Amino acid sequence: MAAALSAAVDGASVLVLESENLIGGTTAISGGAVWVPNHRFSYGALGTDDSPEEARTYLLGQGRDQTLDHDIIDTFIDQAPKVARFVEEHTYLSWIPVAWPDYTSDIQGASSFRSLFPGPFAPSVLGDAAALVRPPKKSGMARNPLPLWLINGIQGVWMAGYAMIGSFLEACLVKGVDVRTEARVVRLGRSDAGVDAVDVQTAAGTRSVAVRKGVVIATGGFEDSDELTTRHLGKPFPIQVSPRGHRGDALALVEEVGADLVAIDQAWWQPGIQVPGEELDGRPISRLVQGERALPHTIMVNDAGERFANEAVSYNDLGAVMRTPDENGEMPNSSAWMIFDEYYHRRYSFLGVEPGGEYPANVYQAPTLEELAAKIGVDPDGLVRTVKAYNPEAAKGRDPWFGRGTSTFERFFGDHNPFLGRLSLNAWAPTFAERMRKRIAKLIGPVAGLVLGRVARARRPDRMRKQLVRPLVTLMRPALKNPATGALGPIDKPPYFAVRIETSAIGTIGGPRTDHQARVLDASGAVIPGLYAAGNAGGATTQGFYGGAGGTITLGMTFGYIAGRDAASR
Ligand SMILES: Cc1cc2nc3c(=O)[nH]c(=O)nc-3n(C[C@H](O)[C@H](O)[C@H](O)COP(=O)(O)OP(=O)(O)OC[C@H]3O[C@@H](n4cnc5c(N)ncnc54)[C@H](O)[C@@H]3O)c2cc1C
Repeated sequence: MAAALSAAVDGASVLVLESENLIGGTTAISGGAVWVPNHRFSYGALGTDDSPEEARTYLLGQGRDQTLDHDIIDTFIDQAPKVARFVEEHTYLSWIPVAWPDYTSDIQGASSFRSLFPGPFAPSVLGDAAALVRPPKKSGMARNPLPLWLINGIQGVWMAGYAMIGSFLEACLVKGVDVRTEARVVRLGRSDAGVDAVDVQTAAGTRSVAVRKGVVIATGGFEDSDELTTRHLGKPFPIQVSPRGHRGDALALVEEVGADLVAIDQAWWQPGIQVPGEELDGRPISRLVQGERALPHTIMVNDAGERFANEAVSYNDLGAVMRTPDENGEMPNSSAWMIFDEYYHRRYSFLGVEPGGEYPANVYQAPTLEELAAKIGVDPDGLVRTVKAYNPEAAKGRDPWFGRGTSTFERFFGDHNPFLGRLSLNAWAPTFAERMRKRIAKLIGPVAGLVLGRVARARRPDRMRKQLVRPLVTLMRPALKNPATGALGPIDKPPYFAVRIETSAIGTIGGPRTDHQARVLDASGAVIPGLYAAGNAGGATTQGFYGGAGGTITLGMTFGYIAGRDAASR
């Protein structure tokens, strides 16, 4: 959509082809955050500063200066803030900067103020086309410094990825972009001059469409293809967290035109839990497991009952550990168990269940760790040994094995009540606090929706930020100083609980290699004229390094924009 909009703004005649019946892909059900170093929105209110040099130090740190394409990284750092402004100029989308630590938060160049979330979107401006956008799915986190509970209660306006896609679609339609659903691109046509046609499959059959300026492949990843995940990532994903449509068509499309491939063994890893009955597109869809892992009184173990990772790192880093093969090529940790105790159950909401509530059937429960282990097929001795060693260290806020709770990011979602401490409602009456939040959200949701709808339609993002950013950041900033004890605590209050966590991906990364203009390259490094790729379909701009919240969509949006402009100029 970013490519379509930038090309249309530059005067090109644009056709968007979407294979599914709804527009938006994974982006529509996502948080819609983008990670934009040096964005410079509301820096006064955020109390921060940033620079291209800082961003470069971060992105090219830890040896990445040896592996990443410096032209691509420099282009991203230079263009991403400009693209964010372009989006505000041409769409109803507004960006709300928040406090959110970069995922590798304690290395040089890291920041806690690079993530931007979409402001509200009023679907009325889309008219009938609103029905074309993929709606969001249920989500939620046990603890989140962002007041998601309030945001989720807002009615009548779209938020997050839904707002993002709604805004882009509206702007594209206004600019005359032709948007077709249930239209799958199945082949690229190539002549000596470059890519000059696409074959499109619809219910009426397959036909060829001539292309004058170029084709931008933005078909997402291949996480849904058992064949491709087996071939490139070792084995299929047992669960899915993205919608249908991620078959990896990009790989088939570019193979015929001789593109080189890059980062084909990489993914944006995501541990998830399948709650019985939760579905999307007629098949099971799992919940992302994020802050829940970073709370005290829980650990993750493998079938031997042993911890294998720092549970509080980013989903991408944890998922990568889970999918790491051993010397026999097996992945012993790809399917693990989250173990927690009654204290956790009483104190935190989990899988949409309020503190102390009744869990769905996939959460096992037993009065002792041994019995729990027997129920779930985990080695009881291993589990007891692990918990026994873990508890005294965790009680002191220490993890001598994996260093959990040592970085700002690992503590960000922890259990800490910075404003009132033990006197806060969260601390002494968590169930009541949760119910109160729900009630408040329900009460003010409709009114807030009306107000935000008007604000969104007014298209005054600077004014919105002036009102919103300071209070929001005042609320969130203390979480940057959470103590390690907020991420660690003993597992010693029976009964004990266990739930299966599997590794999946919010998108795979590998696909056609691109240059800093998002142009697809062949095996000799030459540009294939008229062919571009962006997002999870290809490019692999950071080759799997996840900068921070918004670290995937930002790449698709930035290089999609660049591709659209470059194509329009041909
Ligand atoms: C719950 C959730 C929350 C997330 N939150 C965030 C977040 O806040 N920030 C962030 O950066 N990332 C987030 N992610 C990850 C992010 O959503 C994805 O990495 C990103 O949206 C991928 O964008 P894309 O444009 O590459 O693919 P998509 O958004 O999936 O779009 C690809 C589209 O191409 C279509 N398509 C496929 N093949 C064809 C074909 N042959 N012809 C025509 N159309 C085709 C697909 O149907 C799909 O609609 C989240 C993911 C999930 C699941």
